[in-house]
Formats: sequence, C-alpha cells, structure tokens
Amino acid sequence: MSEKRDYYEVLGVERGASQDDIKRAFRKLAFKYHPDRNKEPDAEDKFKEISEAYAVLSDEQKRQQYDRFGHAGISGAYSTEDIFRGADFSSIFREMGFGDDLFSRIFGGIFGGGFSGFRATSRRGPRRGRDLEARVEITLEQAAFGATVELSLNRLEKCSRCGGNGAEPGTKVTTCPRCNGSGQIQQRTQSLFGQMITVTTCPRCNGRGKLAETPCRLCGGNGLEEKRRTIQVSVPEGIDDGVYLNLRGQGESGRYGGPPGDLYVLVRIKPHKHLIRRGTDVIYEAEVSFPQAALGTEIEVPTLKGAESLKVPSGTQNGDILRMRGKGISGRFGKGDQLVHVTVTVPKRLTRKQRQLIEELDRELGKKRGLFG
Ligand SMILES: [Zn+2]
Ligand SMILES: [Zn+2]
Repeated sequence: MSEKRDYYEVLGVERGASQDDIKRAFRKLAFKYHPDRNKEPDAEDKFKEISEAYAVLSDEQKRQQYDRFGHAGISGAYSTEDIFRGADFSSIFREMGFGDDLFSRIFGGIFGGGFSGFRATSRRGPRRGRDLEARVEITLEQAAFGATVELSLNRLEKCSRCGGNGAEPGTKVTTCPRCNGSGQIQQRTQSLFGQMITVTTCPRCNGRGKLAETPCRLCGGNGLEEKRRTIQVSVPEGIDDGVYLNLRGQGESGRYGGPPGDLYVLVRIKPHKHLIRRGTDVIYEAEVSFPQAALGTEIEVPTLKGAESLKVPSGTQNGDILRMRGKGISGRFGKGDQLVHVTVTVPKRLTRKQRQLIEELDRELGKKRGLFG
C-alpha cells in the first residue's frame, strides 16, 4: 500500500483547525469525490481517504493520538472498524442528501459485509467474541522509552475438550429440531388486522441452529472455557496517560468458530518520585543554597535515564529554569527537554560562625547600597 498522507493535508486544514472547520472541509470534499457524482477512477479511493481523515480528526481522542504518534499511533491503537466507529457520517450524508447505504457500499469490504451500526452482528451461527477491557500501570520511564509489560487476565477461550463446537468428543452436532437450523422461530398469530408474524431467537439452540447431541462435559455446550492468561503488551515510546491500546483478536474467543474480540488496554502512568511530565518535557524542582547559586556549582539531578550532574551557573536566581536538552520524552515533533526549576534556599537557623560570615557579606554588599539615601 502506498504511504498514507497526512490527515490534515488530506482535508486541507491547519493543524489547529476547529471541529467546525474540519467538518466543513470534509463536506466540501465529500461532495467533490462522492462516487455517485464523480466518475473518475480514483474518486472512490479519494473518498475513502477523506472519510478516514475525518473519522480521526473529528474525534478528540483519536486526533490527540494522531497528533502525537502519527499514522502509527492510529493503526496501533484502533482497528479499521474502530477508526470509523463513533464518527457520525450518517447524519452528515443525510444533510447532504446522500443515501445511508453509501458506506456499506464503499466500505463493505473492510467491515466484512454486514455494516449495520458499524458492527456486523448475527444472531445465527458463529459469533464474534466479546471485546475485553483491562488496564496496565507503567512507570514514567516506560512511557518515555516504550516497554513490554505483562498483563494477566481471565478470558473465555475455545473449550479445550470439545475444540469449541460444544459437543462431547466422539458425539455429533446436529441440526436443531426446534428451528430446523434457522436459529429463529416464527410465530403466526391472528389479530384484528390480519395475520401477524413475530420472529424470535430459537430458545433451544440460542440462535445457533445446531445442537450438540451430548453437550461437552467441560463447557456445558457453549464451546468456551475460562482461562487465565498472561499477555505481553507492547507500549510505544512517548505514550500518554489514559490512552487505550487495541490488541486485535486478544479478546474473548468467538463462539462456534466466530472471530475473537479485541482487548482494549488502558495505559495509566504512575506518578514519578521526582519528575513531573508536561507534554514531552519533564520538570524537576531543584534546591540550591544561596552561596551555591551565587558562586555556581554542580548538582546531581534525577533524569529519566538515572542521575546526571548539572552545572548551575554562577549568579543563578531563584526561579530560574535550567534546560537539559533532549532529556525529555519523544513526541511527534521531536524530543522534549528536562526543565530544572531552581529554588534558592535561605537557611532558617544559623550558627554563630555562619551569622558572622553573612553579616560580613551584608556589610560588603551594603557598600554599594544607598538607593534610598
Ligand atoms: Zn467444550
Ligand atoms: Zn434452534
């Protein structure tokens, strides 16, 4: 596949564009490239491109993720289905007078056919496994440099005894006699207005259409078994607190041969003992004594990569900020810095000797005073 273009460039908007600007830009381009109106051979691809850009930039969380990590941040955190989930295309297309079926026609392939409410749900036969949610806590260092962390969870997986078909080994799976394999029951009732047909899920097979002659002893016929699993979660460098990673196919196993769900992992960053994160920069509060600030000194400061020595120049003032370049966190626009905020401390108690020395210093400094007479 060819290199993806920048989403802002695709929609022709500035990085700081408001949601209104983004929507307006999308509508304009959607008119231009709508496959029913534009018969150029690449119109459909263009339409997909602008739709994807809009789906990401119109969602604050996805937009932030994109601003920080680029396309890799989006493809790493969201499935194609999730990229489009939540974006309100239907109402925009309706406003524009386009049909609602547009998306299923164009994106049908991506979403595996059924495109109802952005998720194919079928009551019959194989069912997709449920999505799971979990969280991991990582250190600021792990967030800064990326890490692989372990996550333990209980998850429903294909039953190890029956292989997921729900039948005791050696026994058969047969067509459900109640619904004849359709998974649905139709009931006809006579009413004042004529015959009415109601369709319900078959209670015997729960809509599967098939039944195990002898249900599996381990799973009771549902084909799933709970397992404790340890999963390796790869956290990309520079990740923000509160971001979800999408681990495709790591959710619950599907039933009766259906695809597995996804696992969404919420990443939380533990507070650091010494450092505070601000975007891609990290901040450290350092204290130096008045003589150290006046004369200059070297102090040891904690950084994301361990202790390092930092030169405090002579004449440093209380509140000065010393910048340690490139000692911050990687972001989309380069690496941040460590900012050392300097507090000059004043001793609360003095020995006699210290008092004498400071008094002497005061007299020495006092020679140049006399501003107020
Ligand atoms: Zn089983
Ligand atoms: Zn049935």
